[in-house]
Amino acid sequence: MTENEPSKPIDFIRTIVAQDLAAGKWDGKVTTRFPPEPNGYLHIGHAKSICLNFGIALENPTGVCHLRFDDTNPEKEEEEYIQAILEDVKWLGFDWKEKLFYASNYFDKLYELAEVLIQQGDAYVCGLSAEEVRTYRGTLTEPGKNSPSRDQSPQVNLDLFRRMRAGEFPDGRYILRAKIDMASPNINMRDPALYRIRRATHHQTGDKWCIYPIYDFTHGISDALEGITHSLCTLEFEDHRPLYDWILDRLESQLKHHPQQIEFSRLALDYTVVSKRKLITLVNNQTVSGWDDPRMPTLSGLRRRGYTPESIRHFCSRIGITKSPNNVEISFLEGCLREDLEKKAKRAMAILNPLKVVIENYPEDQVEEITAPNHPQDPDQGERTLFMSREIYIDREDFMEVAPNKKFKRLVLGQEVRLRNSYVIRCEEVIRDPHSAEITQLRCRYDETTLNANPEGRKVKGVIHWVSASKGHKAEIRLYDRLFTKANPDEVDEGGDFTDNLNPDSLKVLKGCPIEPSLSQAKPGETFQFERVGYFCKDPDSTEENPIFNRAVTLRDSWAKISSQGGRRR
Ligand code: ATP
Ligand code: MG
Repeated sequence: MTENEPSKPIDFIRTIVAQDLAAGKWDGKVTTRFPPEPNGYLHIGHAKSICLNFGIALENPTGVCHLRFDDTNPEKEEEEYIQAILEDVKWLGFDWKEKLFYASNYFDKLYELAEVLIQQGDAYVCGLSAEEVRTYRGTLTEPGKNSPSRDQSPQVNLDLFRRMRAGEFPDGRYILRAKIDMASPNINMRDPALYRIRRATHHQTGDKWCIYPIYDFTHGISDALEGITHSLCTLEFEDHRPLYDWILDRLESQLKHHPQQIEFSRLALDYTVVSKRKLITLVNNQTVSGWDDPRMPTLSGLRRRGYTPESIRHFCSRIGITKSPNNVEISFLEGCLREDLEKKAKRAMAILNPLKVVIENYPEDQVEEITAPNHPQDPDQGERTLFMSREIYIDREDFMEVAPNKKFKRLVLGQEVRLRNSYVIRCEEVIRDPHSAEITQLRCRYDETTLNANPEGRKVKGVIHWVSASKGHKAEIRLYDRLFTKANPDEVDEGGDFTDNLNPDSLKVLKGCPIEPSLSQAKPGETFQFERVGYFCKDPDSTEENPIFNRAVTLRDSWAKISSQGGRRR
């Protein structure tokens, strides 16, 4: 590390890694892994784990991080998810180089090691039904009961296990179990299952197997086979660590490597859910348009919404790594995005709620080209052309007949305002619909000496955004709000579920919004600051006739006030 590099984050896991390195443990190596199960798309919680595992590898000269698909559940997994995960990890800015693995790569080895456990008397084939296994397991307060199969000889177990593999038994007829302790206070140690019979075609191994290893058996062995030094996982695995260690201890003579499992707390975000099971429900129920719906907390949804990889990495580094509950307000994530886009996003003008303005003294057939900077502080971002014309649109919220207070620095009847990058106009008259009395048009006059300049002695308080009516284009603008109405969507009445708390107004679509012509040329995925309105990202479903912009985030945190008034954090 050079002195100019930002100091690396410090947390209890990085401290352990540093101590291990200093003590010469693991031969001076640091090898981590990010182990997603390909049963859904990655979400913001996964980003925390990715940034931790890949981050630690990057910060250390000997560091390596593996990407490993924990694919032991063929029924729930799909190739589509594998491709999406690869894309998302890359997009977030991390590179697994040649270290891409699948737990299914180890199915032969896992099978062999299961036979070793059987031969050592550490595992047995159990003939209890799933229901019986449950009742034999006992409860938190009562010990379990031994399975009648528990004391079968290794020969009988080996024979049954081989016949399980050969497909002689129907699904669920037998399981292979570790022989540990049915009275253990830790239920995970009460002879947990290691293998089950499941006739399912696997996305990697096809129909080669009709038995599949259980996650707990697979995970530690995969870590050991890959030479992982620090196996970092979320806190719900703390109670599984004794099993992780038990399996690796029993197989010590075979594996000769025993990684250290360390747990940290999961990230939870207010007003959303980060559980693949719940996210799948939203996709399947068509509550959202797909995994990449911009309201989803998935990486693909956030990307489509306009989030940058930098903003998400920055967020992950700010929330840190601890063992205490990690419930974060969504406005904190939004703040990270705002901060990044403020520097990066080009400025442009768009009108969400148009009101026509006719500038009476502006020549009817005149159109002026005005050059405006793309970014007020960054000349490197170039310039764009605006078109000034006799008829323009402004935002309805930028006009009031009478100023409600001194703070209202927008257009008022009889007063002046500056059009951003253009002239000063004065409102002369308000035209209303004779039936509804709604304001339909403003009649204004402009001062031709004021193009981007203030003639001496003249004070114009406000600046508003505008778009030429004749030269502007039209766009569809999608405004997103919280997906749920409760900070903790799981807070439900008895018998309900998290979908009871869905926000019915999480998407509002505005059509025919006037936009600056330069925006039509934007590439999908490009993000702009619509001046005075917010940050908007061009949607990949845009067409030439119908450009679509997703609101990534508003300019200010409009939720701060609301949440301080009672939107309590979990
Ligand atoms: P989910 O509950 O969403 O299905 P999972 O833990 O089953 O999540 P995996 O694909 O197994 O999903 O997760 C891969 C890695 O990401 C694991 O190491 C897991 O601990 C970590 N991870 C998952 N969710 C979070 C989260 N919310 N915060 C931090 N790390 C997470
Ligand atoms: Mg999991």
